[in-house]
Amino acid sequence: MARVKHYLINERYEDPGVFLQVENTGDYILFDIGNIYKLDRSLIKKVNKIFISHTHMDHFIGFDYLLRLKLGKEQIVEIFGIHPVAENIYHKLQGYIWNLVEFEPQIVFLVKQYKDGYFYHYQFDIKKKFKKEFIKRTKAKENIIFENENYKVQFAVLDHKIPVLGYSFIFPDRLKLNKELIKELPLKGKEIGKLKEFLENPKNINKKFKIGSKYHTYESLKEKYTFVQKGIKISYITDVLGSKENIEKIVNLVKNSDYLYCESVFLEEDNEQASKVYHLTTKQTAEIAKTANVKNLIPFHFSRRYGKNTKPIFHELSKFLEDTNIKIL
Ligand SMILES: [Zn+2]
Ligand SMILES: [Zn+2]
Repeated sequence: MARVKHYLINERYEDPGVFLQVENTGDYILFDIGNIYKLDRSLIKKVNKIFISHTHMDHFIGFDYLLRLKLGKEQIVEIFGIHPVAENIYHKLQGYIWNLVEFEPQIVFLVKQYKDGYFYHYQFDIKKKFKKEFIKRTKAKENIIFENENYKVQFAVLDHKIPVLGYSFIFPDRLKLNKELIKELPLKGKEIGKLKEFLENPKNINKKFKIGSKYHTYESLKEKYTFVQKGIKISYITDVLGSKENIEKIVNLVKNSDYLYCESVFLEEDNEQASKVYHLTTKQTAEIAKTANVKNLIPFHFSRRYGKNTKPIFHELSKFLEDTNIKIL
């Protein structure tokens, strides 16, 4: 399986947030940035991408602490979210005085903010005292907010009395070459690259590849020299009303996730309060996990009204999911 570490930053009854590290890519990712004091300082310093659901305080107050730890090292931090996240970041940055920045290494925040089918890109550069600079507007395609050669992050706009974003991190299955076996072939560096390209494209199924003086079929080479590295899908959903429309959108986004981090704020008996404050109950969280066919459910953002006792929520979730194979972690 793709090597991705991920875990909740805090206890279930504390501020929401997930830390995710994609090994061998140098990417250290946060989903939401509430209180992050519990996260190792050395990891916070490495965070280079932050996906924010919305800027209610419990999801955003950690920005100052992150900024504090990041000063002193030249770097770019990308932040993703929904309108008005860029404005909120601007005001956070303007809460301080930046008169000695000529002696500071350059730190730049690149913000990609979604609104009505478009992304608005902004830049905040310490050398310009973090003024808000609009860079460009791009059209949002297939609900992808970030993509590189390794993975992508998709989003859905959900209702929390304000629009909020839910996210899915997707690292796809990948065809890998068996390097030990390939070494034994009479191929040079460039030719190995060509073989990889040939095998990665399923359209070559009826074609042959020449090694030495012999032609080999696509199928025979694929079977002998490749294996599939399993991908992983990790989703993050929080602060949403349990409406039919929201649930449909969430299920569509998080379908077949290996890990679904999903809020489960209230017990079923408190469902009236849940809809009043636009949050999910255990029953709704369970319904999402079940309909979306996820493998593991990690519930969080438990209401403060239950104190530190997380058992009743776990108990209800397992009751609602008892006829499934879903693991509650
Ligand atoms: Zn909220
Ligand atoms: Zn919240």
